[in-house]
Amino acid sequence: MAGVRSKKKIFLTLAGLMVLAVGGAGFYLGYFDEDDINRVSRKAYYEGKGALNDAERALNAGSSAKGDYGAAAKCRQNLKKIETAKRSVAGRDGQAVGYVSKGDLIKAMGSGMPKCPAGGIYTINPLNSMPKCSVGSAGAGDPKDDHFVNNF
Ligand SMILES: [Zn+2]
Repeated sequence: MAGVRSKKKIFLTLAGLMVLAVGGAGFYLGYFDEDDINRVSRKAYYEGKGALNDAERALNAGSSAKGDYGAAAKCRQNLKKIETAKRSVAGRDGQAVGYVSKGDLIKAMGSGMPKCPAGGIYTINPLNSMPKCSVGSAGAGDPKDDHFVNNF
């Protein structure tokens, strides 16, 4: 009798270990796949780097745009163009607040999203809020080199 009982115990122990092993492997493969972790962290790394590069470019753009009236005028034109497209998409869809879809916006502008000639980054902003260029007011108090439109 004692022999059968200990055999049963061994069997149960083995079964328990199997369950742990299979479960562990599944857990490992499902949730801690090394490739996935690498891919996710690489993606986060490059996205972070991309955002930094954008920010750096925007900063440089700000300092080099000072006194560049031509670029500023073109940029203000772009901002008005984006705002006009926002309003036309919103009007068509009967939307009064919030963000319009970027795809609809680009379609409405026809020639794609305009770019600031001084390298500034555009923020589209929701309805009732003008789009902005990261260069903003490039110089000190000279409205001719401003990269923003307050009212339009
Ligand atoms: Zn600009």
